[in-house]
Order: sequence, then C-alpha cells, then structure tokens
Amino acid sequence: MFDIDKIRADFPILSREVNGKPLVYLDNGASAQKPQAVIDAVTRGYAEEYSNVHRGLHYLSNLATEKYEAVRGKVARFLGARDEHEVVFTSGTTEGINLVSYAWAAPRFQPGDEIVLSVMEHHANIVPWHFLRERQGAVLKWVETDAMGVLDPQKVIDAIGPRTRLVAVTQLSNVLGTKVDVKAICDAAREKGVPVLVDGSQGSVHMPVDVEEIGCDFYAITGHKLYGPSGSGAIWIRRERMAEMRPFLGGGDMIREVSRDAVSYADPPMKFEAGTPGIVQTIGLGVALDYLMDLGMENVAAHEARLAAYARDRLAGLNWVNVQGHAPDKAAIFSFTLEGAAHAHDISTVLDKKGVAVRAGHHCAQPLMAHLGVSATCRASFGLYNTEAEVDKLVEALELCHELFA
Ligand code: PLP
Repeated sequence: MFDIDKIRADFPILSREVNGKPLVYLDNGASAQKPQAVIDAVTRGYAEEYSNVHRGLHYLSNLATEKYEAVRGKVARFLGARDEHEVVFTSGTTEGINLVSYAWAAPRFQPGDEIVLSVMEHHANIVPWHFLRERQGAVLKWVETDAMGVLDPQKVIDAIGPRTRLVAVTQLSNVLGTKVDVKAICDAAREKGVPVLVDGSQGSVHMPVDVEEIGCDFYAITGHKLYGPSGSGAIWIRRERMAEMRPFLGGGDMIREVSRDAVSYADPPMKFEAGTPGIVQTIGLGVALDYLMDLGMENVAAHEARLAAYARDRLAGLNWVNVQGHAPDKAAIFSFTLEGAAHAHDISTVLDKKGVAVRAGHHCAQPLMAHLGVSATCRASFGLYNTEAEVDKLVEALELCHELFA
C-alpha cells in the first residue's frame, strides 16, 4: 500500500516553506530529499558509531566496517546482482563511469576503436569517453533520438561495428524522461561480443532494476538521487569485466603489499576503492536503499506513472508550453520551454517565488540540447513523494509566468 501522506511525513524538508509558500520540490532529477531514517543514520554514524573502516581493530572501527560493508549486499540486492563482490562503492555515477573509462577501457582501446553513445547522455557518460578520444584516438559514434524523443534500440544495435569496443547508454534520460530498452541493446551487443555500460543514475530511481536480467556489464548508480546522502554511490561490474580492469586511484585500502620496488593489489572490489571512503554517506545509502526496497520499486514506479500521466495531461492543456520528449512510457520528468521570450532561468525564478523548485539550464546534456535546437529548458522532475496537487501548483505557477511573459 503506497500511503503518500505517510511517505511525505518521512521527509522533514517537505513540510517547510520557501518564499512564504509551501515547498513543491520538483528538482528530484538533480538530487532527491532524504527521509528521516537516512538523516538519523548519518547523525548516528557521526555521533555514536564513527571511526575509519577496514584498518582498525578496535570496537568502533569494527562497527563502522560492519555497517559499511553490509551496504555492498544491499546494493547487490537492490540491483538484482548475484554477488556483492561485483559492487564497487563510488562517490556517484560520475566517478563510476570515469572508473570504467580509466581502468577498463583505456588499456584496451586502440586508435580508431569506437564507443557507441546516444545523443541524450548526461555529460558524465560523455566526457570520460572524450578523454579516450583526446588521449588515444577513440571514436565516439552517436545515435540520435527520434522526433518523440525515443531512442530506438535497433539504431544503437546497428551502430555497433567491427571496431566497437563498448556501448555506453543511459537507461532513462534526465532531460526527456525517455526510458531506453537497455535489455534489447545488451542482448544484441552480447552476441557481437561488445560490453555495455548502463548509466543507471536516473533509471535506478524510477523503476525496479535487475542487472542480470538486463545483461549489461557495468551499471552505475547515484546515492543522492536515490534519497541517500550526497557523495555516495556505486557501480556494479560483471565479474569477468572486473577481472580485466587495472586499478584506478592508488593509495591505502586497495593494496595487498607495497615495498620500495613493487606493489600488489587487493582483490576486487577493494582493488578499486583507494583511500578513506565516504563511510557515513555509504551507510546512509544503505538505509535509503532499505527504504526503497521496503516501499517496493514497483510501487514507486506505479505511483510515478500515475503522476506522469496526470502531469502530461495537465501540461498538454497549456498550448503555450512546449514539452520536450513524448516517449509513450515517459518517466515523470518534464523539460519544457514557454512560448514567448522568457528564458528558462526567468521561468524558474518565477516558479521559485511560488515555492516550486525546478531546474533550468542545459541539464549537463549539451549534445541533446543541440539536437533539440534549444539552449536551455526548465525541468520539473518528480519523485516518490510528489502528488497530483503539486502538479496543479506547477501549472498554476506556469500560468502566472504566461501572464507575465506572454
Ligand atoms: N547520469 C545521469 C543520467 C544523471 O542524471 C546524472 C546526474 O544528474 C549523472 C549521470 C551524474 O551523477 P552523479 O551526480 O552521481 O555524478
């Protein structure tokens, strides 16, 4: 049973006002708010249970290590992974994809080798591949979305050629809300012997995920969008790919032995986790994942599908709002511009005065902006605690914008 009032009461920030109005938080695509359980876990982590992990032999270090390491299994369960040793903790999806670029891709790419990407990737799934292009002559092959903002998996599959070494694609566009059939892409790529990296920064927040069912090789998640602390995250890496990876950052924790002349490395996943990690953040991520698994991701997805349908209908009634992306099963993420001269920043400022928090700009997706022919959009992105009444508040605030700027 998805009790929205009870859920909203779990998130203390939702009861505050901004600019004298009740907060309507529609910037979940950038970062989500935290339930009290996560806030309590972080507070307790520092107030009562804090110490560095792994190296200590005293009570607090053992306690922190136990709590921190328990999160590996929670991430594995949340993602449908069979083995928690396939989970590497990161600071977020950006770090996860950079890890793959440096530790897996860089040693195997020859000049002219290709990476297939969609045009709607976030910069976190573009810039690490530009590094390979700049440094070692990799070629980025782009696949476009159609006029509805749909990414046809067949087009991605067709772009895989004899020089393709990796497909890197998002499961859900942070701008258009388009869901991508990553399973179809992975099935075909596997037949061609090409690994697939899935950017799950948005997908994991809005739908149940099973990496074994998807059949990908890398799946990156973002703790702060999953209602967990900022600075937390993880990447699931298929065991065979992990075995092919060189270390990323060097330092404490990732070694077996160091001497003046030589170094040997810890077994994965520790091999990829150098230095003191985000201990309390990761413990908080575990609590956030427990919260989501208790709610059930299929229930979250069903609630958000209702919200998306309602928002789509309400926005369609405003013929001066141009929504970008009309994929049939679009998630509850709406990027839009208004007819007339108003810039996205001006629109978001007016919405903010009404207590409605949205994002304005290029959303770290400039190739997509160029493809759409716009420089900036406003984006209302919904989360599990949003309501239809909040969609109405958004529409009211947009009507005010229309009056002011038309
Ligand atoms: N990929 C997508 C699709 C995103 O929306 C974002 C964040 O906005 C990222 C990657 C970057 O994630 P992180 O903040 O965890 O580095």
